[in-house]
Amino acid sequence: MQVRAWCPQCWTAIDFDTEEEIPGALHCPRCDHKRPVAPSESLLRDEIVDRCAVCSCRELFLEKGFDQRIGCGILLLAIALSPATYMLSLLVASLLDLVLYRWLPFRTVCYNCQTEYRGFAPNPRHEGYDLNTAEKYGAEAGKKKAGAKAGEKPKHGRPAGGGQS
Ligand SMILES: [Zn+2]
Ligand SMILES: [Zn+2]
Repeated sequence: MQVRAWCPQCWTAIDFDTEEEIPGALHCPRCDHKRPVAPSESLLRDEIVDRCAVCSCRELFLEKGFDQRIGCGILLLAIALSPATYMLSLLVASLLDLVLYRWLPFRTVCYNCQTEYRGFAPNPRHEGYDLNTAEKYGAEAGKKKAGAKAGEKPKHGRPAGGGQS
């Protein structure tokens, strides 16, 4: 069962496996930041995430471990092929999407620190991503993570305040 935590300072991914030795502390290879890890009994024994091993937060959500880029790639290919296949490629793509989605297991993600847990049994108390709950923990964490995922290079020059609706 894999756990992927994020360094709170530089958002580098730090992976560990609960079947191997669990580190007493997470050590960021990039900025040297350390923070303790405390997996719960339930996580270790029953393989159910009841609280986050990194920040002890009890609010987590379930999501499919589906890489959006794969979905986009399939869709783009289907659109490109649609004239030649009389739209059949679109049908195949949506079926493929459905199959992939159903087949992929859930992963549990911490609202507070975005730590991901894969290979654990889904906790029935956890639900899908909820924007209101996420906002409680600040959108900042999500933004940082998105930035770190989009590319390693730090981007700047984006004007502040994009929150108008
Ligand atoms: Zn770091
Ligand atoms: Zn957490």
